[in-house]
Amino acid sequence: MNQEMKSSTSSETTVWDVLHLSGSPHIPSSVNVPHAWLLLGPTGSGKRLTALAMAAAFNCPELPGVGCGVCSTCTRIISGRHPDLHLIVPEGQVISVETIRAGVIPEAARSPFEARRKVFVIEEAERMHPSAQNALLKTLEEPPEDTIIILVCDQEDELLETVRSRCRVVHFQRVPSEAIQGILEAEGAETPVARLAARIADGDINRARSFALEPEAQSRHRSFAGVPARLTSSLEALDAAAEIVTEAATAVKERSEAQKREVVELAAALGEGRGTASARASLAKRHKRELRRLENEVLNEALWTIASWYRDVLTARRGAPEAIANLDLTPDLGRWAVALEPDDRSLVAAIHRCATTPGALARNANPSLAIEATLVELARLAPPPAESMPVD
Ligand SMILES: [Zn+2]
Repeated sequence: MNQEMKSSTSSETTVWDVLHLSGSPHIPSSVNVPHAWLLLGPTGSGKRLTALAMAAAFNCPELPGVGCGVCSTCTRIISGRHPDLHLIVPEGQVISVETIRAGVIPEAARSPFEARRKVFVIEEAERMHPSAQNALLKTLEEPPEDTIIILVCDQEDELLETVRSRCRVVHFQRVPSEAIQGILEAEGAETPVARLAARIADGDINRARSFALEPEAQSRHRSFAGVPARLTSSLEALDAAAEIVTEAATAVKERSEAQKREVVELAAALGEGRGTASARASLAKRHKRELRRLENEVLNEALWTIASWYRDVLTARRGAPEAIANLDLTPDLGRWAVALEPDDRSLVAAIHRCATTPGALARNANPSLAIEATLVELARLAPPPAESMPVD
């Protein structure tokens, strides 16, 4: 999965096995652990999971430096519920200097709540505002002895050289489709499902796994992939947009129920002792962010799936069936492929339109309006070929 990884030589099960990661970055034993890490690579290449596995490895009392993956420390860390694990994510489009000043610098100076080390995982680190990156420099350079900072980043050009040069860099690669299929089969997915998931996911293991293992994700995918065939008019487009927004709302509601259970668990685990108020406050904050993020994830998934349909039509027209993602929908694809309209130029414009909407969503555009505008535009750019329209 990444260049610097080496396989564990231990015969015991480790956190790396539990998370199906191919190996761990070389983590030196207790002394001289690098305090600042930068995990670089494309979306879905396993960086975030690796960051959590590393946090577990640094703190696991059973297998120090490796992580057993099953003790209370490991399981709470890999599920993101450990008081000494600090997950920093963008609020809206950026990670602001205030977030670093309030959420990282003072926390890094405190002693750990219960683990050996505090671990800060800064997700989408490229979204740190330059002033935020500058604010972090001193902590990166001279972090407290018991502090580890892991930056997770898709686009290293956005990071200041001064930040990058202070970190131990680990490179990740897009996961090949065959490898994804293999991982999913090992996890118990049927071969046809694993194969379809691997094609659809385009190198993103998280997306592939959620597709293969969650029936809801499969039905969501089918409904999103069917959207282009429904875009016969603006009215139909608005209908389809409303359904997509409802899908996102349903996902948010389900997660919100799970969060309520998590709050109860945390209260039971913490009692009323030292630091519990701040642990509760940080959990509430994390929950709010999680929900906002989840809504965007589902909406982006819809856009991405719709775009993959138009791309598949182009692929089918080029006679390259091995590159088609939506293997389950090939009869319909065939019909689009032989039609004169929409032509290739319109399909490319439609793909482009899908690709620009996530940016608008990240800039806090009203999600319903953004999706509606996109689908109305798609109905204009690339309405389904006449043959596939329903006949009354
Ligand atoms: Zn453990």
